[in-house]
Amino acid sequence: MLHLFDTAVGQVVPFRTREPQKVSMYVCGPTVYGPPHLGHGRFSLVFDVLRRYLEWSGFDVRYVSNITDIDDKIIERGQQEGRDPAQIAVRCEAIWWKAMDAIGVKRPTVAPRATEFVDRMVELVDGLVADGKAYVLADGVYLDTHQVEGYGLLARQSLDSLQAGARVEALEDKRNPTDFVLWKLAKPGEPTWPSPWGDGRPGWHTECVVMSLDLLGEGFDLHGGGQDLAFPHHENERAQAIACGREFAHHWMHNGFVEVGGEKMSKSLGNFTNLLDLIDRHDARAYRLLVLRSHYRSPLEVTEATVADAERQLDRLDAFARRTADFADDGVAADPATLDAFRTAMDDDLNTPGGLDVMFRTIRQANAALDLEDDSTVGPLAAAVRSMCAAVGLELRERDVSPPDVRVLALAEARRTARAAKDFAESDRLRDELRALGWIVEDGADGATLRRV
Ligand SMILES: [Zn+2]
Repeated sequence: MLHLFDTAVGQVVPFRTREPQKVSMYVCGPTVYGPPHLGHGRFSLVFDVLRRYLEWSGFDVRYVSNITDIDDKIIERGQQEGRDPAQIAVRCEAIWWKAMDAIGVKRPTVAPRATEFVDRMVELVDGLVADGKAYVLADGVYLDTHQVEGYGLLARQSLDSLQAGARVEALEDKRNPTDFVLWKLAKPGEPTWPSPWGDGRPGWHTECVVMSLDLLGEGFDLHGGGQDLAFPHHENERAQAIACGREFAHHWMHNGFVEVGGEKMSKSLGNFTNLLDLIDRHDARAYRLLVLRSHYRSPLEVTEATVADAERQLDRLDAFARRTADFADDGVAADPATLDAFRTAMDDDLNTPGGLDVMFRTIRQANAALDLEDDSTVGPLAAAVRSMCAAVGLELRERDVSPPDVRVLALAEARRTARAAKDFAESDRLRDELRALGWIVEDGADGATLRRV
């Protein structure tokens, strides 16, 4: 049985679902005002791996992940570019999905846009005001956090210590420092929706509580996101649900930061500007493998070196897939002991490094059996490797379709030079070297061409 760390209780607990064999999960999606960064890539991959593993384990997963398409940052970007914020959101959302497709993240079952749920958000805020749980100030409507039982659960702090730690904000009228905005009254030139308190727009925390409860129902199984969302975003989502008397998420899961040199990733740090940059320069699968190599709650170092190392490991996986391609269609059952070992690792708080250990150990065993031409051993092990790859969304390439790399091109050029100088011994030596790298040189009327062995 899967066990996961629950942020709300601060320990690893059995993951129990509302309905047998069905999982309902909500993962906070992006605010679409710029290209996805590496942190976006990490949370998307972590929860994609969880979803795929649950599906592989026989669960029917309903996965909801939103698009925040109205927000201060989108409005700001629109003002900077002299464009309608809605256009910014549409353009950035398209870029988001393209990046998600590139890194192999399955599309959510439902991907609601915040602007499609504004009426429902107004209803929720209206109810809270009517109950005296929320109050109206000059710039918007606020939740009275003192009336929320257990506020501070996800911060793992008491309300008193949160109050002491809260910055003294410009708005002195708030009843408590931890109170937060549910509905923001509009400033001139901003996109607006009508409400009983005046034209405005929903607060970010109100968006997610409405969309998750509407699309998954009360007491849904899991709410997730990056660790920076636990407080205040998730705390404040939960506070609204509690204030409405509605049961919220049963399990809270948060993944760690992307870091470079021990510091949280920011735009000024690191080798990669953003996720698109990484995808452009590397095999997009390398980021998934890199994410899998760290436990999801640990910090993740993303540098040119760690990505390149993951790429080399992918080469080993692909080479194994090619070597065992003939076994792939045999319909042989995967080795049960291997899958059990994999499950044991993954069920222990999604221990993907442990799962990968099982995978690479199995590859070594299968390679040894291949060397001995022990086909009856190879088949079940190769099937197990394919099954484990499917469980974590690692796509295997049985055929290498990548173009010749810099080294291969340099060797081909050196060979051309040697031939032109009629140094045939050197030319033959280079031909052999290329062949050892998997490339055949064919001399034709238009010069030499390269093709895969
Ligand atoms: Zn959210």
